[in-house]
Amino acid sequence: MDYAHIMCYNWKKMMEQRINLSFWEAEEMELSRKNLGIAASLTLEIDAKAKRMKSQGMDIIGFGAGEPDFATPSYIIEAAKEALDKGYTRYTPSSGIIELRQSICHKLLRDNKVSYEPNEILVSNGAKHSLYNIFQAILNPGDEVIIPLPYWVSYPEMVKMADGIPVFVDTLEEENFGMNLDNLKEAITSRTKAIIINSPNNPSGCVYSREQLEGIAQLALEHNFFIVSDEIYEELLYEGAQHLSVASLDPQVRDITLLVNGMSKAYAMTGWRIGYTAGNSKIIDVMANIQSHATSNPNSIAQYASLAALNGPKDIIKDMVSQFDSRRRFMVDRINSIDGISCTTPQGAFYVMMNINDILNRMHNGRVLGGSLDFADALLESKNVAVVPGIAFGADGYVRLSYATSKENIEEGLNRIESFVKELI
Ligand SMILES: *Cc1c(COP(=O)(O)O)cnc(C)c1O
Repeated sequence: MDYAHIMCYNWKKMMEQRINLSFWEAEEMELSRKNLGIAASLTLEIDAKAKRMKSQGMDIIGFGAGEPDFATPSYIIEAAKEALDKGYTRYTPSSGIIELRQSICHKLLRDNKVSYEPNEILVSNGAKHSLYNIFQAILNPGDEVIIPLPYWVSYPEMVKMADGIPVFVDTLEEENFGMNLDNLKEAITSRTKAIIINSPNNPSGCVYSREQLEGIAQLALEHNFFIVSDEIYEELLYEGAQHLSVASLDPQVRDITLLVNGMSKAYAMTGWRIGYTAGNSKIIDVMANIQSHATSNPNSIAQYASLAALNGPKDIIKDMVSQFDSRRRFMVDRINSIDGISCTTPQGAFYVMMNINDILNRMHNGRVLGGSLDFADALLESKNVAVVPGIAFGADGYVRLSYATSKENIEEGLNRIESFVKELI
């Protein structure tokens, strides 16, 4: 028994004696029905499994990473040290320090051409927390949220945690997984409360065009629903792809859009946990109230580090992007050189959706690969290569490979995948 189990066991024994509650009654106390239906994050789970196997000395190639493999730039680390030395170790305003909110406004005007005031900004514990706060603030039971496929694992679960209903809209690989407006129209009902757009996209790498964004915005205005725009990968663009913030289209669109971004992906700051939302102050106020009770302010040191990041030089990001770009090209070419699997070329983020439709239902070592979970599991077991099954993103005919890992790893990993595919009968 580990420590937590011992504590739990002792507590139960104590309860039994004190109020004569039987062991079994304590065991069967009902937990939250709504939250029992929430699945664990499959991506985090697979990454953890691969890391565990690695720590046991196994030769694992991990394509599961959902984070840059670069170190946080040193000027950001220095700013954090300075914040510690200056004693910035107390509670801050729960929405974030004013200097950081001002810098975020400055960044949004400079990079995204949208104008916000500091009272329209909420700094949270990562962009994931920003999204969680948004759904808590805007949804009522039964409200529908449109989520394009393939989606980031956490969206449907976050919507459900806020009593909302996820409604999925299919996209096509042949259209680079972009939003098809006719499909979107079909999904809209009188209960539609929001759409989530994530461009550049995790897991597909799709970057939405101006026309697509204008079409979505027009439908949102016509049918009166919010646009939740997750722009966490905005800096990671290739081959001249451009990022456009939907909120910049016009003031009316800005008013119904909740723009989400954060430090994790652009500045290799995943562990620092700083993200933010920009939006209409009426919604931001509700989100701020929720956050003030749930977590109070995000980590004070990380806020000062983020301030330095946003005001710092951007050439470090450029270096990172050019390394990602060369790995991306290498990975795409290598996948398409293997018979039976394929992929399209992603325009952003750091993932490739590898199409495995043609090899599904074939056998490996006597085991039928019925879907992406079987594929990922068999690959990990037999070749020590970790990928994320597409079913985690609602796309069972695919697995996601992250190229946030060295070229040597990509080369070795794809050699192993090739030999795995060749072993299929
Ligand atoms: C990584 C990621 C986030 C969240 O990042 P945080 O670390 O919580 O800031 C949000 N959306 C997508 C699509 C992501 O991949």
